[in-house]
Amino acid sequence: MVKPDAIQEVGTIIDTVYQNGFAICNMKSVILSRNEAEEFYREHFGKPFFNTLMSFITSGPVLAMELKAESAVTRWRSLLGPTDSRAARTEAPSSLRARFGFDNTKNACHGSDSDQSANRETDFFFKSNAKR
Ligand code: ATP
Repeated sequence: MVKPDAIQEVGTIIDTVYQNGFAICNMKSVILSRNEAEEFYREHFGKPFFNTLMSFITSGPVLAMELKAESAVTRWRSLLGPTDSRAARTEAPSSLRARFGFDNTKNACHGSDSDQSANRETDFFFKSNAKR
């Protein structure tokens, strides 16, 4: 998912997706409501940064993509780099978060952290009766 802070860079991000051997099976741009954002990020409910994350992720359009590749979860997260874009700029300067993110909230892109969450999150956006 391309987050609101990086939506203007979506062309370059899609180029990077293809250059790294992913196929895009589904793609959708939406503005998440607060309820939808809470559902999507439900595992973080109650954490100190939750409200900040909710305000940010609902502040503009996101681009959801269902990506397909061998070991897609691991490879996409490696392309993302560390959660905090400031750390990414020193630890993984060519990563998407280093290139397009700002800090530990505005960090350009999301990636599912397991096959199980990838299934849940693609259903969230793309199932025929999708929540979004
Ligand atoms: P994502 O789930 O978005 O791919 P991640 O797995 O690297 O990111 P998580 O720990 O799952 O990071 O946090 C989800 C999101 O919440 C982060 O991408 C970031 O936008 C925000 N976030 C995480 N930690 C913090 C923090 N300490 N302060 C502010 N925002 C945070």
